Amino acid sequence: MPSFQAGRANQPSPLSSRRAFFEWFRKQPRICAYCGIEEHKLEELFGAGVLSTKRGRGKSLELERKDAASNLYTAENCVLACYFCNNHKSDIISEEDHCQYFAPQIRVYLEAKYRELLDK
Ligand SMILES: [Zn+2]
Repeated sequence: MPSFQAGRANQPSPLSSRRAFFEWFRKQPRICAYCGIEEHKLEELFGAGVLSTKRGRGKSLELERKDAASNLYTAENCVLACYFCNNHKSDIISEEDHCQYFAPQIRVYLEAKYRELLDK
């Protein structure tokens, strides 16, 4: 479950109330908006200990602002992303470049790990 953060008070946002956020969240497809990995595969990979993070992240899709600089938590600016895509996208690497160069390889990596898990 991504953490809820409201937009700034002076920036009206469709996700600025807890209710609006959960209604939006409920409707989101359970796949990473960048690499397309399904959330259930992440749950299985992290649940089985194939992958792990120090802070216990990774098992669920995370709330990601496409344009982080805008600091807007709006339906247009928010997507669900996997831990890897969420951490990889940055001020240096644009969303477009992440989708073109990195997200497909993240998917290849995660699908390979998932196949290994199923073959165990
Ligand atoms: Zn991803």
